[in-house]
Amino acid sequence: MTAPYGIIGWPLGHSKSPLLHNWGLRTSGLPGTYEAWPTEPKKLKAFMAEVRARHIKGVSVTIPHKQAVMPFLDGLTDRATRVGAVNTLFWADGKLLGDNTDVAGIVAPLVPHREAIASALVLGAGGAARAACAALQELGVAEIAVANRTAKKAGLLAQDFGITAVEWEGRAARPWSLLVNTTPLGMKGEHQDQSPWPKDGFGGVGLVFDLVYNPVRTVLLQDAKNAGVTVLSGLQMFLQQGLAQFEIWTGVKLDEKGARQLLMMDLLATGG
Ligand code: NAP
Repeated sequence: MTAPYGIIGWPLGHSKSPLLHNWGLRTSGLPGTYEAWPTEPKKLKAFMAEVRARHIKGVSVTIPHKQAVMPFLDGLTDRATRVGAVNTLFWADGKLLGDNTDVAGIVAPLVPHREAIASALVLGAGGAARAACAALQELGVAEIAVANRTAKKAGLLAQDFGITAVEWEGRAARPWSLLVNTTPLGMKGEHQDQSPWPKDGFGGVGLVFDLVYNPVRTVLLQDAKNAGVTVLSGLQMFLQQGLAQFEIWTGVKLDEKGARQLLMMDLLATGG
């Protein structure tokens, strides 16, 4: 750990966060770099002690540490409290705090579509689903529901957010103005050819937001597009959550267009 910024996760795989944040530091002329810090769960305590000892300026947090880091912090932002997980560590007035910019990452791309979203179904009930529910509530969506392969988890999430749980098997039984996919179905690797939604089930659906961003065009987004539905890619969420992190750490608003181009070019170069 030599840089003032970095990401902690296990395994870290091919995270695009170092690409985005190192570009941000370079283009804004700020000192330091952003590193990948693959950290096993059993080493989290030692890692957090080092963050304090070295006064590391900014940490992105990803699976499986988003909840596990919370006991090591001095406090949480309202958003992190509502989600029950953090993806960003930062310092304020000498205190090490946790925020959740995944919520901002989901809110920002949906804002232009807000008026058309009367109802939303969140597919999946993990950490990203919790951020999606918090985002949809922030946007004031009137009817929010969740469907998950494991019904019990959907029930718990529904209870936490005061929303409805829908059976996974019956998820396409009625139309929703917005679908948000928070499952890994469609992601590069074993799930790439899969979709969480039936190809012929888009009647009445107006907008589909797939949080998966690699590949950019998932099976779900291709099927939705073919059915004439407006689509949003997870790349937009990744971009917005990253821009929000950078601003928290440095106070600098990065050029959104330049950052999007950087990520698109990288994904195209790596077959995304
Ligand atoms: P997580 O906590 O592990 O939750 C995954 C959810 O997907 C669980 O509800 C799980 O259901 C469901 N699921 C897994 N495999 C499934 C399958 N084969 N069929 C149906 N459902 C399945 O993960 P997470 O942190 O929420 O992340 C989920 C996805 O969100 C990631 O894969 C990633 O692509 C995306 N994401 C994107 C961004 C971004 O910036 N764009 C940020 C964060 C996450 P069970 O409860 O039944 O296991």
